Amino acid sequence: MQTTVVDHPLIAHKLTVLRDIHTDTPTFRRLSDELTTLLGYEATRHVKVEPVTVPTPVGTADGVKLARPVPLLVPVLRAGIGMLDGMARLLPRADIGFVGLARDEDTLVSATYATRLPDDLTGRQTFVLDPMLATGGTMETVIRMLLDRGAAAVTAVSLLAAPEGLARLDAAFGQELGVPVRAVTASVDTKLNDKGYIVPGLGDAGDRLFGTI
Ligand code: URA
Repeated sequence: MQTTVVDHPLIAHKLTVLRDIHTDTPTFRRLSDELTTLLGYEATRHVKVEPVTVPTPVGTADGVKLARPVPLLVPVLRAGIGMLDGMARLLPRADIGFVGLARDEDTLVSATYATRLPDDLTGRQTFVLDPMLATGGTMETVIRMLLDRGAAAVTAVSLLAAPEGLARLDAAFGQELGVPVRAVTASVDTKLNDKGYIVPGLGDAGDRLFGTI
């Protein structure tokens, strides 16, 4: 599996503020949005385009436009919603599907409680949005859903990743599947703690984005 850790001073700066326990919710939300757009630039590097010619005021120019079928963005509820606008800004014509998974905090196993995805994803490039790639269990489940529906490519976009989660995805999807599965993140942190939180991480992304409920 191809993993890209996007190395850029603005990403490093914004990520540092995002991690800070003193950063308030409005700032956290805005930084998640901005970071996703910056990561999205790398995540969309392989997006399919087709040639097009446009008239300019002084001639014609060869260019490209996004190929059809349009990509599918899949924010994982709830924390992935904090990344949706940042990614949709880059791909405004993309369709948006939803998957809801809740993690049992004792077993760390995720159960699916909502799925709203097209049945047929043949030929479609897909982008899964989840800020924290921790154990990788949620991401593995969502990627399987997309591959089972015929997705042409899956890119997992996270703000932070744990080595354990990346290793799990690599074990699941690292072999030649005929479909590229990629991960793009701003940082690979040290490890998971015994509660499945990324260390040093940023805490509970859903709570920091939307409050503790
Ligand atoms: N989910 C979070 O919100 N934070 C973590 O550190 C791990 C999973």
